[in-house]
Amino acid sequence: MIVGPGVTFGFAGLLVALALLTHAADATGPGFSTAMPVGGLAVLWFLLRGARVLSIETVVLGVTVFAADLILGSEPDLAAAMAGAVVVQTLVTVVLLRRWCSGLWGCGGDRPLDRPRVLARYGAALALGMAVGAALATVGWTLLADHTTDLGGALWFGRSLCSTLVVVTSGLLVGERVTSEPPRPRLLSGATWFELLAAVAFTVGMYVVAFWFEQLPLAFPLVAASVWFGLRFSTLLSAVHSLLVGTATLALTVRDIGPFAAVDHTSVGYLLAEFYVATIAVTGLGLSTGRDEREALAAELRRTQEEAEYQASVREAVIGSMNEGLFVLDDQGAVLLHNPAAAEIFGIAEDVMTREALVARSDRWADGTPLPDAERPSSRALAGETVRDVEILVSPGSDLPDRVVSVSAIPLPRDSSRGRARALVLFRDATTEHARREELAAFAGVVAHDLRNPLAAIDGWTEMIADELDSGGLDAQLAREFVSRVRSSSRRMRELIRDLLAHATSSSRELDVARVDVAELVAEVAAARHAEKHVSCRAVPPVLADDVLIRQVLDNLIGNALKYVAPGVEPCITVRGCPHPPGFVTIQVVDNGIGIPTGEEDAIFDEFHRAHYRDYEGSGLGLSIVRRIITRHDGTISARANPDGPGSVFEFTLPAYDG
Ligand code: ADP
Repeated sequence: MIVGPGVTFGFAGLLVALALLTHAADATGPGFSTAMPVGGLAVLWFLLRGARVLSIETVVLGVTVFAADLILGSEPDLAAAMAGAVVVQTLVTVVLLRRWCSGLWGCGGDRPLDRPRVLARYGAALALGMAVGAALATVGWTLLADHTTDLGGALWFGRSLCSTLVVVTSGLLVGERVTSEPPRPRLLSGATWFELLAAVAFTVGMYVVAFWFEQLPLAFPLVAASVWFGLRFSTLLSAVHSLLVGTATLALTVRDIGPFAAVDHTSVGYLLAEFYVATIAVTGLGLSTGRDEREALAAELRRTQEEAEYQASVREAVIGSMNEGLFVLDDQGAVLLHNPAAAEIFGIAEDVMTREALVARSDRWADGTPLPDAERPSSRALAGETVRDVEILVSPGSDLPDRVVSVSAIPLPRDSSRGRARALVLFRDATTEHARREELAAFAGVVAHDLRNPLAAIDGWTEMIADELDSGGLDAQLAREFVSRVRSSSRRMRELIRDLLAHATSSSRELDVARVDVAELVAEVAAARHAEKHVSCRAVPPVLADDVLIRQVLDNLIGNALKYVAPGVEPCITVRGCPHPPGFVTIQVVDNGIGIPTGEEDAIFDEFHRAHYRDYEGSGLGLSIVRRIITRHDGTISARANPDGPGSVFEFTLPAYDG
């Protein structure tokens, strides 16, 4: 139901009023049926009310048409038959419309009549419904009327068809427009008010000419006005135009005016007028719905184009801002698409990006061995294979270092016009990652080796203890010796594991910076190592650092300074600091030890690098931990020979505390 029940009585009243008017005008005979738009009004009423077969509307319509026919002088039995024909015709039409045009406003949907295909189904539903009504009326007349009306069935059909075409169409279009959400399509479509005035004037002029010179069959130029409305104005205006000129045509014809009334046989004249109205209605609607459809398609096309342009700009922005390199190439070697990152990683100018240039700069695997063309990720993807994270070496040239690049390649759908295979190649700089992995592998190798040595020693010594026990001659002195060696090996293992843990936490621990008094930490470290008399600390400006990590730094450096002294030499360690460079404090740990072999001042900071591995025990991790901690504080560290005597100077910087 679209409108309230009051409308039922409105329509019923309208039908009775029309009958009374017709009666008052004394226009009985075929003229009455020609003028009365019963068919259209009834269908529109049922559609708006959402009426069912068994409903109050069916009853009211039947009673109203029966009463109207009685008013107009029909016999009761004939009036009942005609009422039945109108009810059946209305129900059939409404059911067909709901079934065939379910998307249309009033027929179950919410769209206006704006597609020629829907118009065709709509017209077919109306024609079929009216044909059923005409057939029933003809049967009624044949059985009940004293005399059969000439062309009665055809007139009924024509009258009902043109009344439904103009009344129902206008009603549904107005209803849809009134109830739809703004913004609504323009009533004038592409035309102007001036053009509308001109079209109205043309219509009036044409009708005056056609109906004035009624002896001349001048009906055909009238179609031009409907064509004008159909081509230039909205479907709604075109339908209203058909409604107005249709009503005028029929009204004038009934009054015996105009070209249709001039036909010898009155019924034939009426019939012609009815079919003329149906024709102009269909012509106008056909043209305007065709135009609506074209406009909708054009709007859709515009929308799609805008959307495509938007998508392309988003894609371009995404591709352009990616850190990963990307290119698309085809099996003919053309680079169809690439992004700035790709050009940068390969060191190729954006405008000379060709497959040859790419191949020339990436012809080796990450380990430096040659990369055959067939095994290139792009070649494999062009052959239909998906390749993930393959590492190759890229030489960008112009003295830039080689880079390890991790490449993935995906086959794309073939180019539809030329049938070429295409592939998307994505790559990212994996140089650091690769170096880290290599480092980690080396690290793991050294750790395994350093742990295996003391373990082998433990195995060996315990085996010897077992052998001695088996032979029953293990003397206490020997046993003590063996056990002490086992304990020394296990201590080395424990120290290595401790250093490994410290190494791991030196980079993973979250920095918790605050004011740190270096002299205080030095005193703590010295006390913990029972070396107070060997360690002295001069004034050091406060630093902004993580005290736990800085304690670890000082412990490593002081521990080394105490360890790396010549036998018999009393260690003497001095820690001092000065506020330099700006924003930083430079701290020096000076010792009187054996010194660092020349040329190894930098290498001793690498993991596992040990300059004095023959005579001193150690893991080779302490200084790498120190360097990592200092670097995390944005500082630097270096080592050199002590300029004031034997030993070394370890010098590092930390951010100054300026609170
Ligand atoms: P570790 O002391 O466990 O061997 P480190 O990383 O602490 O490992 O030190 C690396 C190497 O640097 C040591 O093996 C040693 O050769 C050298 N070294 C460190 N500190 C000193 C120092 N104060 N004097 C002389 N050599 C040192």
